[in-house]
Amino acid sequence: MSSRRPLSTVELRKENRNRVYRYLIAQWEPVTKQDLAFRLSMSLPTLTQNLNELTDMGLLDRSVTTDSTGGRRPRLIIPLPNARFALGIELTASDLHMVAINLRQETLACQKVVIPFSNTAAYGNHLSQLIEQFLDEHQLDREKLLGVAMTLPGIIGPDQTTIEYAPTIGVHSSTPCQFTQAIHYPVLLDNDATCGGFGVWWNRTDQPSMAYLSLSRGVGGAMLVDGKLYDGVNHRAAEFGHICLNPNGLLCKCGRKGCLEAYCSTARLSDDLDISLDEFFQRLEEGNGEYKALWDTYLENLANAVTIIHTILDCPVVIGGLLSQYLPPYRDQLENLIRGLVSQSEEASFITFSPSSSHSVCIGAATRLLYNFVKQL
Ligand SMILES: [Zn+2]
Repeated sequence: MSSRRPLSTVELRKENRNRVYRYLIAQWEPVTKQDLAFRLSMSLPTLTQNLNELTDMGLLDRSVTTDSTGGRRPRLIIPLPNARFALGIELTASDLHMVAINLRQETLACQKVVIPFSNTAAYGNHLSQLIEQFLDEHQLDREKLLGVAMTLPGIIGPDQTTIEYAPTIGVHSSTPCQFTQAIHYPVLLDNDATCGGFGVWWNRTDQPSMAYLSLSRGVGGAMLVDGKLYDGVNHRAAEFGHICLNPNGLLCKCGRKGCLEAYCSTARLSDDLDISLDEFFQRLEEGNGEYKALWDTYLENLANAVTIIHTILDCPVVIGGLLSQYLPPYRDQLENLIRGLVSQSEEASFITFSPSSSHSVCIGAATRLLYNFVKQL
């Protein structure tokens, strides 16, 4: 058995404060001190001290009393969702999406700007201006800003100062980030699918472990293991798009052959056919034979990939990205294919679909900052 060092008084105090706050924001409901002490099995003096500290940080409102009649009315403890907020920005080759979310992951403001990405200081300056305008326009209080979380469609170095590989934005080998220095707030930079998956996971409090597979033009993912994002040793974990399904197969953008992305990029169902995804699924439903054959092959490859992911991680696999909204009618077909690949003792129903909006990735990115904030409280 590993022996754990006893916590120091300071650490213990911090741990208690963290427990109190986490409990409050798991519910986002007013509670009384007595109720809270009971639920957390915490003594009233300890709880009072923690509540005072959290109130001083501006995180709680304790000015309201209950409506009970007779005797002294107990004060309510109300967590304040707008006590802090975070910005999330998804950067792509052609544009950016920006959101501000509060501590309850509610969107306070959002914006899309057409601006081609370039890894330059000039782009960083432009981005910095856009952030300042966005804050002004939506009257967001900079004092409450936790930071700016940005995503790129590529692999980011572990220290977030290099872009290792991002072919869709023209980075083919390790390159220092040139655009983050211009931003005057704490910056987090990570892969888009990693952040998208994190945002989905944050809302699934019942699932400490989850794999997220994002199916858009790019195919990527995230791994959440035991309540934490698993990054990998080189920050390259969960690059599910480059699982090799066929060593002699289709050429992938990464230069290798037979990657999942080569088969399950949404481009196979849209760009390659010069139609939109909506049109593809409409014609599929109308009985188009050519599209039916394409879709069957697509699902076979997808079933293969999610089975591999599940075999390794043994946890729910959530499918997100642009494609996920079209998948529910084909659940049975996909699960039947998976059933043909897993052993008889295994369940095939480990997949769920998480339809994404145009802001899912930037919300997920900003959520990383909420998580870090709560964790360090
Ligand atoms: Zn590849």
